[in-house]
Amino acid sequence: MKKRVLITGAAGFLGSHLSDRFIKEGFHVIGMDNLITGSLDNIEHLMPLENFEFHHHDVSSFVHIAGDLDYILHFASPASPIDYLKIPIQTLKVGSLGTHNLLGLARAKNARMLIASTSEVYGDPLVHPQVEEYYGNVNPVGPRGVYDEAKRFQEAITMAYHTYHNLETRIVRIFNTYGPRMRLNDGRVLPAFIGQALRGEDLTIFGDGSQTRSFCYVDDQVEGIFQLLMSDYAYPINIGNPDEITISQFAEEIIKLTGTQQKVIYMDLPKDDPMQRQPDITKANEVLGWSPKVDRSKGLKITYDYFKSLPKDRLNKTEH
Ligand code: NAD
Ligand code: UDP
Repeated sequence: MKKRVLITGAAGFLGSHLSDRFIKEGFHVIGMDNLITGSLDNIEHLMPLENFEFHHHDVSSFVHIAGDLDYILHFASPASPIDYLKIPIQTLKVGSLGTHNLLGLARAKNARMLIASTSEVYGDPLVHPQVEEYYGNVNPVGPRGVYDEAKRFQEAITMAYHTYHNLETRIVRIFNTYGPRMRLNDGRVLPAFIGQALRGEDLTIFGDGSQTRSFCYVDDQVEGIFQLLMSDYAYPINIGNPDEITISQFAEEIIKLTGTQQKVIYMDLPKDDPMQRQPDITKANEVLGWSPKVDRSKGLKITYDYFKSLPKDRLNKTEH
């Protein structure tokens, strides 16, 4: 019998890559998504497969799946700042009610459940690099609070199901991840810069560009998540690439990669935008034997080639 896995957010960036990976590993994959920020384009290639089924459903409403389930990966949630600022209540609901529904389903099916948490649980961090033991510096009533607090609640309820119901659970804290199938206009810095370069627009740096991020290529992220799911470790684990750069340096790299003649322009820094972010991945290394393999120059090239290959009308498409 094939193992059966439910992946929520399957039509999104990470969910679609995870679906590919589990299909490759010989699983039966049940993808679920309400398409609020995702697209069927991302899983079009999986639709004809016997081992893949798609359910168009909002996981914040009761979730029903017929038959057995071995694993649940809860990846449904708006993930980019402009998305969760546009749909704040849905973001809070999918992290709270959605997670509760899926934990209930996991219990009923005796399935192991992994949740997609985030480096945002550390907020604008005062500890650098961020270790899992750091409690974070989050403004609950600031604009990003809808996402950060939903994810913090998600971790808390998942740990409670583990402790009080003995449910098998896993928590991955994902740091900025990039790659093909990101939505070109989702507002995140990489698709923003590449989209601007491809359209011949100036690159928009928010603030003075001295804030840092550490970018992880999607294949490395998926590998880390797969290994965590298969491990017996129930506490949060950072998965990300510690190679940290400033946003100004990142803009320079994109200008060089794309050969654009455009310049950078400066815009206001959004409120509560974290000033620095770098994962400490000691735990992932010790517990899972995992570390990232793809360096930024290689990952950026693959991602740029993907965006270049998109039909012209998708370069300008405004989806919201
Ligand atoms: P994405 O927007 O591409 O994918 C999210 C998917 O979830 C979309 O397809 C969307 O339609 C779906 N969705 C949202 N609300 C839903 C609901 N109520 N019911 C069903 N489907 C719903 O984003 P992503 O980058 O692939 O992120 C996936 C997960 O990983 C999210 O939980 C996000 O918080 C987490 N994460 C991502 C990153 C990153 O760098 N990409 C970093 C940290 C955490
Ligand atoms: N950013 C930027 N220009 C843009 C989009 C984002 O300078 O057009 C900055 C943003 O302010 C943040 C960093 O890039 O400091 C990463 O932003 P992103 O939205 O990709 O991710 P997050 O802030 O969630 O890490």
